[in-house]
Amino acid sequence: MNIILLGPPGAGKGTQARQLVEQRDMIQLSTGDMLREARTSGTEMGKLVADVMDRGDLVTDEIVIGLIEEKLSGEKAGGFIFDGFPRTLAQADALGDLLKKAGQSLDAVIEMQVDDDALVARIIARSTCGNCGEGYNDIAKPIPADGKCSNCGGTEFKRRADDNEESLRTRLMEYYKKTSPLIGYYYAKGDLRTVDGLAAIDDVAASIASVLDQ
Ligand code: AMP
Repeated sequence: MNIILLGPPGAGKGTQARQLVEQRDMIQLSTGDMLREARTSGTEMGKLVADVMDRGDLVTDEIVIGLIEEKLSGEKAGGFIFDGFPRTLAQADALGDLLKKAGQSLDAVIEMQVDDDALVARIIARSTCGNCGEGYNDIAKPIPADGKCSNCGGTEFKRRADDNEESLRTRLMEYYKKTSPLIGYYYAKGDLRTVDGLAAIDDVAASIASVLDQ
């Protein structure tokens, strides 16, 4: 089963993708994570995209399509969760072609709906464990009082460089200009399912599960 999690920054795509990986043995393909990894390891591509990402703009279609193509040809097992990809119509067309070439199909596109005020508040409050990547949020899921990650016991937490109000405004604008047309695109294809992304994490997970088990 291959699915896309679609929604603005802060909608909770990464959180839900991590749960699906654990519970259903699926493979999370997050282009944002891949790009951050390229930056950390200091590759040429990583250097190229650093400023663009920090500003909150989208990197080129060519780069992200290349990243996904590499993963699709490399990994065969399980289903894929596309998290943060596609973000443009060109990327959506490319994904359709890549899946077709690999003899695979797209089973559902799950739109996670949230209102914009909630997004800004969520993003400004979020952090992750520096060791295992477990996500936290000062409001909905604070770091435990003993300062240790509930998943791995790690004690270092980090915030993303682009999780600041200015870059977030750009990311939201990019979402509405370039990514939100995908809602209509997948609706027309008959693939779109919508869940309430503002609900509690477990309730959102339950809504997604009911879509997948349909
Ligand atoms: P994310 O972790 O999904 O919020 O992505 C972080 C940043 O990486 C975005 O603000 C973009 O600069 C870049 N990025 C991630 N995925 C894509 C994509 N599919 N297309 C273009 N840029 C992307």
